[in-house]
Amino acid sequence: MSTDRWHVEVSHDCIGSGMCAGAAPEFFRLVDGYAEPVHTEIDPDEVVTDAADQCPAEAISVVDVASGKTLAPVD
Ligand code: SF4
Repeated sequence: MSTDRWHVEVSHDCIGSGMCAGAAPEFFRLVDGYAEPVHTEIDPDEVVTDAADQCPAEAISVVDVASGKTLAPVD
């Protein structure tokens, strides 16, 4: 069983499109018009990496806690 944990961040590049909160409301919410993670550390879930890949501002980053590797967005 995986014990991986992911760290989720939203940067100041967020333009408040709301896409992430719409697609993954359990992981992102809008506060004063900008997104923030509901939890900064989560169990791996592809919904979150998909949201990071689809963010129009590339404002969401998902990092594997153990390795420090950036999982999304991918180039
Ligand atoms: S998808 Fe990106 S730009 Fe849109 S609200 Fe989420 S973090 Fe901000």
